[in-house]
Amino acid sequence: EVKAVATPTLPKGTFRPKQSLGQNFLRDGNTVAKIIRTFVADAEKTIIENDTSGKMRAVELGPGAGALTDTLVPTMEELNASFQCIEIDPRSVELLGEKHPSLRVHHMDVMQADYPTMATEEGGPLSIIGNLPYYITSQILFALADASHFNAVRSATVTMQYEVGERIVAKTCTKEYGILSVVFQLYADCKLHFKIPPTVFYPPPKVDSALIGLHFVGPTKLRERLSGIQPMELRRVLTATFQQRRKTVRNSLKKLLTDIYEGDKEKVQEILNSKPLPLTATTIKARENGDEFALTQELPDDWTKLRPEQ
Ligand code: SAM
Repeated sequence: EVKAVATPTLPKGTFRPKQSLGQNFLRDGNTVAKIIRTFVADAEKTIIENDTSGKMRAVELGPGAGALTDTLVPTMEELNASFQCIEIDPRSVELLGEKHPSLRVHHMDVMQADYPTMATEEGGPLSIIGNLPYYITSQILFALADASHFNAVRSATVTMQYEVGERIVAKTCTKEYGILSVVFQLYADCKLHFKIPPTVFYPPPKVDSALIGLHFVGPTKLRERLSGIQPMELRRVLTATFQQRRKTVRNSLKKLLTDIYEGDKEKVQEILNSKPLPLTATTIKARENGDEFALTQELPDDWTKLRPEQ
């Protein structure tokens, strides 16, 4: 049980937050305690569900001056969990090294993180925690989803802009529903845990934040859900479909299909007239070979007139 935590303080003098690195430091002990409590619950839930070893392997992304880290170190020790951090700012690496000499802090860009290798070294899938830098939130999340494909990441409990969090958990037929909703709801069970006001950060960001929990479903279930579709192809179609929200799905896909079939208009027309719609280039190719990989979901008769936000 993580009890209330003392107000995190910034080291005097040198550690001024850098906007370019998305540094908004947590400065409220209650919020820190709430985030860590939720992280432990998320991680334990996925351990029980998916991991027979029962061990928690925590990784914090962007520890900064250590607002979460200072409480995570003793908490993880108590839980007998492994714990390491990834941080790009050398000032943070130095500071954390002084405060927690035995903590492993990888001094690197989180986008270069090799989660599958880290998971192999740790002996099983990782649980991620982080008050993420908002300028690369979705790239970080996509990388985690990809890693879950290799059984390297089981859960992620991370803060982000509230509006991004809303898009991740959005239901179909809402204006927030988009690529983030489709992808993350496919890869994970997603939960918006709670809203976080700007006042608990220093400096305060302009918008509200949210703590999001992702419980990745893992490779087996994901393969079932994708039923033969390649993840990258899926993203290509989703990008084509959602990028231009004012276009009909038909027109967005027409462009993509015209690229794939190098301008073969008849072929494009034939595919656009088919129902259910073959979802990706892979599925289209599979169909030609007589295999049936197409979407099984029933589409309304006028599906090509639908717009992504409907
Ligand atoms: N965890 C601290 C807290 O809650 O007070 C800091 C959170 S701050 C929102 C984001 C952290 O991510 C900063 O420490 C920043 O230096 C780090 N960061 C930004 N870009 C990064 C990147 N590309 N790779 C690794 N860390 C990064």
